[in-house]
Amino acid sequence: MGKIKVLDEHVANQIAAGEVIERPSSVVKELVENSLDAGSSRIAVTVEEGGLQLIRVTDNGSGIETDDCEVAFYRHATSKIGSGKDLFQIRTLGFRGEALPSIAAVAKVNCVTASSADGLGRKLVIEGGTVRSFQETAASRGTDMAVKELFYNTPARLKYMKTIQTELGHISDYLYRSAMAHPHVAFTLKHNGNVLLQTLGNGDLRQVVAAVYGTTVAKAMLPVKAEDADYTLGGYISRPDMTRSNRQGITIVMNGRTIRNYAVSNAILNAYHTLLPINRFPVVALHIGMDPELVDVNVHPAKLEVRFSKEQELVRLVEEQLRAVLRGEVLIPQPGRPT
Ligand code: ADP
Ligand code: MG
Repeated sequence: MGKIKVLDEHVANQIAAGEVIERPSSVVKELVENSLDAGSSRIAVTVEEGGLQLIRVTDNGSGIETDDCEVAFYRHATSKIGSGKDLFQIRTLGFRGEALPSIAAVAKVNCVTASSADGLGRKLVIEGGTVRSFQETAASRGTDMAVKELFYNTPARLKYMKTIQTELGHISDYLYRSAMAHPHVAFTLKHNGNVLLQTLGNGDLRQVVAAVYGTTVAKAMLPVKAEDADYTLGGYISRPDMTRSNRQGITIVMNGRTIRNYAVSNAILNAYHTLLPINRFPVVALHIGMDPELVDVNVHPAKLEVRFSKEQELVRLVEEQLRAVLRGEVLIPQPGRPT
């Protein structure tokens, strides 16, 4: 007998959890992405103690059918792709089928879901990867995922958690960006009973910017609208006189996904070149749309980083278009501003 064995599902899930679920905000991200993929127009996030006690995400999306409930928590189980070639045209936020098994491996999960409006749903309780119960229950259409006692069975990871304030900071940062990525979805975020974010879901991105940064910033935003053969650009960028001390105010959304991309961030900053004082940064909520075949999102487990096949073209378009918007603004003669 050889020495090599295939790990059982339970251990495999714990290993994957180490990669996908780094901290409470990772759980929020995975659950909210599932709610968005389910076509929800309302997503409510409730958090207690920085997410370490409770993370609850309630949506009004498609729900999960009875036969799929337990399967959804299997590793590599997804309704979003069916074959390898689908990987080259991802239109959903999820596709790896790793989030639910990973979360359930390191927490206690209650999932209540209903896929029709007849008031009939089901409830699945799963703890540390083991199903505790599965039964019918009354529920309205949508899914309600409650994740309790995150990392209760992985003490090393739990010890590594920062303060409640830091963990909450990561959660709210993610939610602010999601709300700006999806202005048609009404988001709420509550922490220990306090409402930290509430958006209307009426599609007005400027109103979302106001909910996140306040009305002064929202009023100082200029609209961006452009397209070329491959890309569309939309969203808002701040006037050069409205600056911040760090880059955190820059949100880049690609086909509904919030991403980090050095080249695009740089293009944004280059557009502001000489207009901003040194070490000051703009507020930006830039939406980039493109054919999903032009981008590889299967680069990073959390899918934050992506690869564009026509990056140079995108960089040029962003820089040119943002510069034109800013120039349009600066041309209006105002004392003390370059024209
Ligand atoms: P992925 O999102 O990559 O498919 P997940 O583990 O996050 O993998 O979810 C597994 C499956 O469970 C999804 O493909 C989807 O079919 C279902 N699912 C999860 N969350 C929801 C939700 N909030 N509403 C509807 N279906 C959901
Ligand atoms: Mg998912």
